[in-house]
Amino acid sequence: MADADCIFCKIASGDIAADIVAESDAAVAFRDLTPQAPTHVLVIPRDHYANLAEVAAADGTGVSAMVRLAAEVAEIEGIDTSGYRLVANTGPDAHQTVMHAHLHVLGGRAMGWPPG
Ligand code: 5GP
Ligand code: ZN
Repeated sequence: MADADCIFCKIASGDIAADIVAESDAAVAFRDLTPQAPTHVLVIPRDHYANLAEVAAADGTGVSAMVRLAAEVAEIEGIDTSGYRLVANTGPDAHQTVMHAHLHVLGGRAMGWPPG
């Protein structure tokens, strides 16, 4: 299901252009508009859910499809061995700004911990 006002639904349907890195039946991976690392790719479900917890609650295979595509992105980008971070910002304290579930795939540099 798509939300007519959702920018990531429009990217999933091709109505808005994005730099697509990989795709599967259930998910799409594309480069973030404002990259925070040498690799910064977003993985979204094709269907509209507000966050990752909603994907998990609604569909038993949705989250694993997203993580599988994220792992494929890491291989494509050559960061599967050096390492990468998967981030799912959820809600205002975590600075979620787009209310369509997404995983950030971040890599290509050493990450700080704990996150700010
Ligand atoms: P959030 O803050 O919700 O976890 O992450 C949303 C991400 O989406 C941000 O990193 C932002 O740069 C990215 N973003 C927002 N609008 C667009 C867009 O139209 N195209 C692309 N490729 N990325 C977007
Ligand atoms: Zn959406």
